[in-house]
Amino acid sequence: MAKRDYYEVLGVPRNADEMTIKKAYRRLARAYHPDVNRDDPESEEKFKEVTEAYEILSDPQKRQRYDQFGQLGYEESRYRSPFGFDTFDMFGDVFNMFFGSPFATGTRTRPSSRGSDAGITTVITFEEAAFGTQKEISLESQVRCPGCNGRGSAGDAGLIQCPQCWGTGQVRIHKRTILGDFVSSHTCSQCEGRGEVIERPCPECRGTGRVTQKSKLRIDIPAGISSGSRLKLSQKGNAGFRGGEYGDLYVAVEVLPHEIFTRDGYDVLSEEKISISQAALGAEIEVMTLDGPERLYISPGTQTGETIKLRRKGIPHLNGHGRGNHQVRLVVETPKDLSSEEIKLLRRLAEIRRENVGDGTPDFLQKIKSVFR
Ligand SMILES: [Zn+2]
Ligand SMILES: [Zn+2]
Repeated sequence: MAKRDYYEVLGVPRNADEMTIKKAYRRLARAYHPDVNRDDPESEEKFKEVTEAYEILSDPQKRQRYDQFGQLGYEESRYRSPFGFDTFDMFGDVFNMFFGSPFATGTRTRPSSRGSDAGITTVITFEEAAFGTQKEISLESQVRCPGCNGRGSAGDAGLIQCPQCWGTGQVRIHKRTILGDFVSSHTCSQCEGRGEVIERPCPECRGTGRVTQKSKLRIDIPAGISSGSRLKLSQKGNAGFRGGEYGDLYVAVEVLPHEIFTRDGYDVLSEEKISISQAALGAEIEVMTLDGPERLYISPGTQTGETIKLRRKGIPHLNGHGRGNHQVRLVVETPKDLSSEEIKLLRRLAEIRRENVGDGTPDFLQKIKSVFR
């Protein structure tokens, strides 16, 4: 399926700045969030689409690559469907095509009775990703039939030859085309390739030993997990055919962007504005961290772009040992709307430092321009 242009998805112009992109994403993510639209599968798709667009456009490197090469230049494997089942079913068919047909080898390999894998996406906050959480997820999957306990038969009835494929497990389809006749063989739908069906099938599962059911599952999301990770829950996928083993369940984890924090590996990054006086004279300020407010000491003569590291205040490591750091990037903010007293003080400072400065009024630039005209 062709993907929509990421800028179009977020509804922002191609030259949009970081803040505009972040704002657009936050608005759309709230609107399409799966927790808000529980019964609307379309909004989950939309949510995934805007999250993917945001992940690319909010990262300067990825955005540049996307701008340069478009979708082709940016293909991230983790965004290929987190749902394994299509692939597995496909392999099953291919397998049967080459090995399952009695015309090919004379013997028939029994198809696997293991259930297929299932996939689901869960969305968590930045803090939940940092410290771990428990999530209840709703899932529709195939479970072992309670009526026959997965055996597929009503009572003790045995197996008989499948009437649809005469026991071959394959159904041959003839197609007449202008190029000639073609015969293709497919796995029989009635016996799922086994060649045998149950004489008196269980009415609840029609002999398959499994039924579709909605269920809720509590899953533990480990501390330190990053957006786009997949958790594998062994044997929590779909039930197997007639009592066969369960497939696995894959849970794709999406992490919502945070109001003030971003993440780089296990480090938390944030930006703090300081005044020119604080930058020049040094100061003690308060910054927010994952653990709450923290004192930060700014040394005299601090420049914009300098970072201060708060050790072990970042994201806990996924393996349970240690934590990343929190890096605060300082931005010196030039004051606007100065009072006349402040202008006086700053001009006095400039005088002492022998600096050439304006008079602090907005029409100052106009004045100089007219002098040079
Ligand atoms: Zn049953
Ligand atoms: Zn059959």
